[in-house]
Amino acid sequence: MITEEIMGFPVDVITYEDIMKDLPEYFQSDKKMSAISVNPQIIVEGQNNSEISKFIKKSTHRIPDGIGIVLVSKLLGGQVKERVAGIELMYRFLEYADTNKKSIFLYGAKPEVVADAADKIQKDYPNLTLSGRIDGYTDLSEAEIIEKINDNQPDFLFVALGFPKQEEWLARNIPQLDASVFQDVGGSFDVLSGHVKRAPQFFIDVHLEWLYRSLTDRKRFKRILQLPIFVIKILFWKVRTRNDKKSS
Ligand code: UDP
Repeated sequence: MITEEIMGFPVDVITYEDIMKDLPEYFQSDKKMSAISVNPQIIVEGQNNSEISKFIKKSTHRIPDGIGIVLVSKLLGGQVKERVAGIELMYRFLEYADTNKKSIFLYGAKPEVVADAADKIQKDYPNLTLSGRIDGYTDLSEAEIIEKINDNQPDFLFVALGFPKQEEWLARNIPQLDASVFQDVGGSFDVLSGHVKRAPQFFIDVHLEWLYRSLTDRKRFKRILQLPIFVIKILFWKVRTRNDKKSS
């Protein structure tokens, strides 16, 4: 697997098919897959968060989640050609779990959101086992959450606490958890449950769902500005590292 570096963060040149091909190996051994989204927000805001950067470096699959990563890879002469969207990858994991009768656990989002996401998953993927769920505002302690998840022995654990909570939580807790596959899924339960609408199909087809959601959601609006800032930061980083190499 080819890995590129963007401002100190690794991102893998990887497709959905590569990840799905790797899956069985994780179920046949004790190895744990961590499929973690790498996007402009993580790279920019993760610069001063050593817990996050260590975690991304240790993760088994660092997915290029976002057009910003594809664009920047191209600018740096890299090979990331295809975006691997976190939510799309989650759908593929659910399909796999359905076909192979695996079990899943959902952790995160508001109580009614995770409950509706669970119902929808159970309806759409009747052959997987939904082994449990905990909302992201629970009064349970971290130790109790771990115990509840492990008691239910899920194969897949999806964590939806938003950035950086979900990555920090996974960094601390993967070693204690018995699941085989871990994914940070941000706002995916909101979309899956229907509490947040996906963009019209046209925007999905032309890979501009992020733009539609940014324009229609005030909280996400500032992310549009993050993209040009990210590209400029990357260009400065590239020039600086090139100069450092020349002078050493
Ligand atoms: N969330 C949560 N607990 C928290 C903070 C956030 O469960 O303490 C959930 C939130 O309800 C939402 C998800 O995390 O379902 C993603 O939140 P946000 O949209 O802020 O994150 P992003 O999509 O930007 O990663």
